[in-house]
This record gives sequence, C-alpha cells and structure tokens, in this order.
Amino acid sequence: MRKSTLEILACPHCRGDLILRAREERGEEIITGGLKCTRCGETYNIIRGIPRLLPFRETKKLRKMYKYIEQYYDAYAPQYDINYHNPEIEYMRRVEDSCILKTRPKGTVLDIGCGVGRQSLMLASLGCEVFALDISKEMLTELKRRAELLGLEDRIEVIQASADLLPFKDEIFDRAYAIFGAYNHVPHVKRAFNDLYRVLKGKSAALLSVLNRYRLMWLLYVILKRRARHFIKTLHSKHGYIVMRAGRERYRVWTRYFSKSEIENLLKSAGFQDVRTCGVLIFLRPRFSYSSDLRLRGPKALLAKLEDLVRFTYPFNALGTYLIVFAYK
Ligand SMILES: [Zn+2]
Repeated sequence: MRKSTLEILACPHCRGDLILRAREERGEEIITGGLKCTRCGETYNIIRGIPRLLPFRETKKLRKMYKYIEQYYDAYAPQYDINYHNPEIEYMRRVEDSCILKTRPKGTVLDIGCGVGRQSLMLASLGCEVFALDISKEMLTELKRRAELLGLEDRIEVIQASADLLPFKDEIFDRAYAIFGAYNHVPHVKRAFNDLYRVLKGKSAALLSVLNRYRLMWLLYVILKRRARHFIKTLHSKHGYIVMRAGRERYRVWTRYFSKSEIENLLKSAGFQDVRTCGVLIFLRPRFSYSSDLRLRGPKALLAKLEDLVRFTYPFNALGTYLIVFAYK
C-alpha cells in the first residue's frame, strides 16, 4: 500500500480517519503495518502490501457469509483463468470491454470485485489511477503480480474489503466498475449501492454486470430438461448457491440474482439519476471450462451477431445471462 492511499481511506465501520503504523516499508510502499481508526478504535492489518479492511463487527451470520465468499474466491484464484478461457466467455469479455469504453474511463477509478484484475489492468493501461478491491487476498496477490509484470503497479492499488462496507471517504472516484457478478455475492446489497453512490464524485458513472435471475438460456434449459423444481425456484427465490470445484474440494458460494427492474430500482433508490441496462449472453450459454480456441464458430457466431443488434432493446436487455448496468450519478 502506498502512503498516499491513506488520504482516501476511511474506517469501513464508522468512516473515521485512519492512522498508519508502518512496520516494514520500501520507499513509498508499506509492506507490513497497521491502520487504526481514530473514531472507533478498530485496527486493521497491512500484510504483504495489502491493507485488510474487512468488516468484523457484523452479525455472526453475516461474518460467516463473508468468510465463505472469501474462501471460495481464495480457492478459485489459481484456476480462474483456466475456467474462463472459452469462446462464450471471451465474447462476453469483449462486450464488457466495449461497455467500459462507453463510460469513458478517466481519473481515479474503483474496481469492485476485481478478481485477478482483467478490468483493473485494462483501466490502468488506459491511464486511470485504479483502486482494485476484492474480498479475496489470493485474487489480490495475483493481481499485484500481474500489475508488476506489466509495469502497471504504480497505477494500481489493491485493497481487501467488502463491497457493502467500502473503506473510502465520500466522493473520491470518477468512475466505478463491478464486472462479472461482484454484487451477486454481496450480502447487504442496499447498503452496498448506497456506499457505491457515496464514494462516487458528482456527475460520475458506475458500470455493473450481474447474473440475471430471468436469463433466457437458463429458462429454456430448465424447460427443455423438464426441471420444474428449478423453474419454480427461479420464479420464487432471489437466492441460490453456485458450486465450484477446486482440486478435490467443492465450494458453495451464496448468490443473489437480480432482475433488470430489481437492480435498476435499487440503484435509483440509492440516488443514481439515470440507469440503463443491456444484456450479454442472451442467446448463448456461458461455459465454465477451458478451450484452446477462443473463436465462436457457425451458428454461435451468428447468434452473437444477433445479440449485438438487440442488446439494448427490450425485452432482450432483460434476458441476458448477465445484465450490464450503466448508472449515472
Ligand atoms: Zn472506525
């Protein structure tokens, strides 16, 4: 963590100022040390250059949820790129990137749920000063390594925190991004969107992509496979679990699904003036496996072309596997 980062950080619990106690430093960089809140007295560690600003003072149930999500993504970090290396995901990445460019990224930006940092690295290479936030320290460690390899470490600061308790002062960021479902795993979603609004400067923009509750390909799948139970569950409940394998272990991560109207209403009630949604992977099903060839071929390529035409048009903008939401303050 750079010493200058202290100027924008705040206690995630009470938003009080933090004071820095460095134990090991290298120039401007703090490798090991602590941060102490001047208001509530809570202390946070800096380990291997990463400030750990996770919430402690939540209910037992919430603490357990944060822990599970952290463990899930820590376990996932080593195989992240392998599972997401296939034509469908690559196509989604291209759509996400074009949406990011539509928001005209500039200045100080926040990347929420940054993972191994695909968007953070892109934003830094575009000249932005990036604050990359994730609940998983393994993801952040990998992002730090990649930033160093690309010579982008001066433009990327990594912070371990939860999206529903952002450890920043008010009105810091020019843009905020949360791509590939970060908000699907946030227990306190109303608080998270209020916090997102709070940390953004006036006239700024946020771009979010979330897993859609009413994704067309999923609904067709459960109907064709006659999985009535899954169909009813989709209509009945916003919550579910995603299961992932890492080696011999199986991890379940709690997931909250959003419909287009739900996420738009949540963002508007947090204060965002203008909210627009498009869909991605509307006619294509995502795969979570490795493929050496990243090109969509035959009918899939045609379906992608069709998607490109109708992405922003109702009802297709409500039916993608992921919803990409533009929110303007
Ligand atoms: Zn505090």
